Amino acid sequence: MGKIFTVDVSKCNGCYNCQLACKDEHAENDWRPYAAPQPETGHFWLKLTENVGGTAPKVKIHYKAELCCHCDSPACASVCKLGAFYRRDDGLLILDPEKCAGCGACAKACPYGAIYYNEKLKICQKCTGCAHLLDNGFALPRCVEACPTEALGFGEENELRDFTVGAEVRLPETGCRPRVYYRNIPGRFIAGTVYDPVEKEVIIGAAVRATNGGKTRRVTTDEYGDFWFTDLPAGKYDVVIEASGFEFMTLDAVDATSDVNLGDLPLERA
Ligand code: SF4
Ligand code: SF4
Ligand code: SF4
Repeated sequence: MGKIFTVDVSKCNGCYNCQLACKDEHAENDWRPYAAPQPETGHFWLKLTENVGGTAPKVKIHYKAELCCHCDSPACASVCKLGAFYRRDDGLLILDPEKCAGCGACAKACPYGAIYYNEKLKICQKCTGCAHLLDNGFALPRCVEACPTEALGFGEENELRDFTVGAEVRLPETGCRPRVYYRNIPGRFIAGTVYDPVEKEVIIGAAVRATNGGKTRRVTTDEYGDFWFTDLPAGKYDVVIEASGFEFMTLDAVDATSDVNLGDLPLERA
């Protein structure tokens, strides 16, 4: 139990307030015993990643706040020979700036890239969960407090069950058991535009189906001839397009391990 972070990706508008707030809180500010000053440049204890899928004009973007996961089985702590990591009663994992000798073993071991080297101080550093604020009566870390859309959350694990049940964590296969939970990370999409090459017009209402693993999803083209399959599990899909008065088109094994814009798809007249 203890504190966890939550990230609702569907609420994030990419404003970067969280990343900037972390920098503002920690850059050149000394919050010992939890953190020595963060350098002005090079460190992103919270990093907003911009994820762009597809190709113009069919592009979707989502943003994801990524920070130290304060893991229950932290790979970083397990390799530190100096015992520089410790767990607070509230669950936050602290890298003690006084004990760290800057060998970098923890940074190499962390599968999330959450630890940074401070060239000036010759130590490794990471998110503290803003433990210095919590100790002083603040309910939230700076990044969470700065989020205007409440995409970020922080609180007791047992009070956030509605969020965590069914939520995802980053890289679950590492066995680190992260304590940062994500919801509403978009799946892959397959999109395209269906048109009549003779009339040079889009085809409205064409039936499009995509099949993967025995499951078929169906959509129809809209007033612009466009179709979108969204939130797909990554995989290969057989796509079939049908419209009255036209030959059907098949596209086998469309690779949706990343987002796919199939572009303009001409249907031949029957
Ligand atoms: S995210 Fe990395 S640095 Fe943070 S607790 Fe987990 S293994 Fe350690
Ligand atoms: S909890 Fe504090 S240290 Fe951690 S990412 Fe947020 S602002 Fe930065
Ligand atoms: S502050 Fe909130 S809305 Fe803005 S980028 Fe960070 S998570 Fe997204």
